[in-house]
Amino acid sequence: MRQGYEDIIRRAGRPDWFDKNGVPRYGRFIPDRVANVYAREAALVRICCRNCGTSFDVAFSRPSPSPVPSLSLAELIKTRQLSYGDPPNIKCCPKGLFAGSATKKVLEYWHKSDVRTGWIERKLR
Ligand SMILES: [Zn+2]
Repeated sequence: MRQGYEDIIRRAGRPDWFDKNGVPRYGRFIPDRVANVYAREAALVRICCRNCGTSFDVAFSRPSPSPVPSLSLAELIKTRQLSYGDPPNIKCCPKGLFAGSATKKVLEYWHKSDVRTGWIERKLR
């Protein structure tokens, strides 16, 4: 179950997207705004609550090289292993708090191979 951040949502309204921790975010997704400031990969992904089907746009990010051996975000997307876990906590349904989520579609994928060149969007299939 994720934190609800009712204090933020009550003041700012329905979020446009959520970061990897379920924190509500507003405005267009920009990879520099993901939770991990050292991210070298970032993606905006549409997921849904496994119980009620409510859709959410959520961010994933990875530093590169990763501090622990793990697949890159691109590899997780290509092998369909991307998983957000419980959906953002907007109380979409009583079971949604612990229902898990299903990954529906990668909306945007960005990578930064060199910090001097900045983020580059890439299409992944
Ligand atoms: Zn739900």
